[in-house]
Parts: sequence; structure tokens; C-alpha cells
Amino acid sequence: MKLTEKLNQSKNTLFSIEILPPLKGKSIQSIYDGIDPLMEFKPAFVDVTYHREEYIYKKREGGYLEKVSMRKRPGTVGICAAIMNKYNVEAVPHIICGGFTREETENALIDLQFLGIDNVLALRGDSIKTEPAFVPEPNGHPYALDLVKQVTDMNQAHYIDNDMKDAAPTNFCIGVAGYPEKHFEAPNMVSDLKFLKQKVDAGAEYIVTQMFFDNTKYFQFVEDCRKHGITVPIIPGLKILSGKKQIVTLPKIFHIDIPQPFYEALETCKDDKEIKAVGIEWCIQQCKELLKANVPCLHFYTMGASEMTKSVAKEIF
Ligand code: FAD
Repeated sequence: MKLTEKLNQSKNTLFSIEILPPLKGKSIQSIYDGIDPLMEFKPAFVDVTYHREEYIYKKREGGYLEKVSMRKRPGTVGICAAIMNKYNVEAVPHIICGGFTREETENALIDLQFLGIDNVLALRGDSIKTEPAFVPEPNGHPYALDLVKQVTDMNQAHYIDNDMKDAAPTNFCIGVAGYPEKHFEAPNMVSDLKFLKQKVDAGAEYIVTQMFFDNTKYFQFVEDCRKHGITVPIIPGLKILSGKKQIVTLPKIFHIDIPQPFYEALETCKDDKEIKAVGIEWCIQQCKELLKANVPCLHFYTMGASEMTKSVAKEIF
């Protein structure tokens, strides 16, 4: 079922989660162990992130370093199929431009359609860590916008090969990312919103935001989107801060702020147990305010912390 149908049918704010595939070599059981405690809150959908290859240096005999390409977290599509089968819940694979030619994307989308997956979150992906800026594959997509266009084309039975006769249309509901605190590469918010609008005009039917800890940023973002003619649902993405290190790493990785009152409360914590308690409480207050504002869904970046997500969901749903 398309997410937009779910969102339209529900009078109440929905609950959803995002999970990461396990590290290569680990069992899928860790995925089930993360989802099981949250099933009582009836997630409307489960997003599964996509992780492209990275380059690592392996020390070889004689001391020289070999540059090796490897995907640390493969399995997005398999996990989606497995959790749909096991839990009867909508799984939403993230699809990215990075590392894919247009043809590989087309083939991947055909696989998803055959598996009965109705929703995709279309993203550009970040640059490979060893590259200073995002580089698309030759004949790949430079922006998420181009990926959205390709999915929309397939939804209209337009495949890369124009000569294809009687091609069946796909029927994907497309989501895209939005950034209440601006995407870090965008020169300013107006420019970022202009490109977000282009993704929606090209066929994106809903937006999921980057995590934020300050609800005023989300409310302002929604207001700005509406002013720019973006009318689709905007689902807030939430992360529960779970350790002292994250006070530094989350702003650095995701280009977001930790609001001063939250920072002050975190600073007084003696250990990660106390940090977790403060993180949970902050997230509960965020959720309560977002619920009052009747947001379409509360989307949790669980990042392996499903017990913490459960502590928040218990207070909210
Ligand atoms: P785009 O929409 O392409 O935007 C990228 C930048 O380019 C922005 O600054 C935008 O303003 C600008 N821009 C857009 N179009 C144009 C244009 N035509 N000309 C000039 N500038 C333009 N990454 C992963 O690798 N895997 C995941 O599973 C994943 N999941 C995510 C889920 C969510 C909800 C979010 C918010 C992010 C996720 N990411 C993921 C990270 C994401 O891939 C990065 O933030 C990436 O840097 C940008 O992706 P995008 O889809 O927003 O890109």
C-alpha cells in the first residue's frame, strides 16, 4: 500500500521507524530483535537505509596498502522483503544515485516491484568518504531529482529503452528528503527549497526530514515549504540522543544544531545512562508538541536503539 494512502486514511499521527542493515557478516536476527519490541506500536512503515561502497586500505604482506572497495552494510532489498513477509508491514527501501548507473537503477526498481514493494525513498546519497564531493556514476544521476524523474517515468511505463513495446508501468509512491536546517551543500535555504520543490513537482509525494532537536526549525521549515508551493506531507524525522559522543558527532555528521537548553541538560550528565534519560525525555517533549501540531507521522531513526524508541513511543502512542 502506498504511504500517501496510509497517511490520508489515518486521522491520527502515525508511528514509523528507520533501520540500518546489519554489518556484513552479521545475522538478520539483529534486525528482528530491533523491530520486535516496537511492533506493539503498529509502525505504519519501516524504512531501510541503503549504504554504498566505501574504500578501505588493507595492509598486505611487505607492508604495502591495498585500496579495496567494500559495502559494509549490504542487504537493503533482502531485509525489506524479509520484514514485509515476517511482520506484514510496509517496508520502504532507500534508493540512491551514488554508485548506480541509470540502467542499474531501472533493474533495481524492477526487482522492488516484483517483490511487492510500493514505496521508495529517493536520495542522492553522500560522497564516498575519500572523495571531496559527490560524483555520479557515468550515466548515473547527479541529484535525487533525476532519480525521482526516472521512477516517475517508470510509473508511466517509460523505460530507458524507448523501443520497448507494451511495457508495464510500475506504481511506486516516491518520498524524498528535506532539511529543516538546510542541506549542508546548499548555499542558502531558498535555494534548497527551490530544489526540494523540483523533486515534488517531478513526482515525490511526501517528504521525510533530516533529524532535528529543535521543533521550531521543523515548524519554520513546513511554513517555508508551504510558502514555496510544496503541499505534500512533511514527516518529521526524530533521533533520540543516546551517548555523550553524539553531542559532537550528530551535529558534525548531520549538520544540525543541539539547542542550548538541551545541551545544558546533557552537559550535567555523569555517564551515558544519564544522557539516555535526558535524550528520551527531550524526545518525548518534542513528540508531544509535534502531536499537538497534528503532524502526519513521527518517524524514528532507531539506529539500533529500539529500547529507547520504545520508551518514547510508550509515552506517546
Ligand atoms: P538532493 O536532493 O539531490 O540535494 C543535494 C544537494 O544538491 C542539496 O544541497 C540541494 O539543494 C542541491 N541540489 C539539488 N538539485 C540541484 C540542482 N539541480 N542543481 C544544483 N543543486 C541542486 N544517504 C544514504 O547514502 N543512504 C540512505 O539510506 C540515506 N537515507 C536518508 C534518509 C533521510 C530522511 C535523509 C534526510 C537523508 C538520507 N541520506 C541517506 C543522506 C542523503 O543521501 C544526503 O543528505 C545527501 O547529501 C543528499 O541527498 P538528497 O537526496 O537530499 O539530495
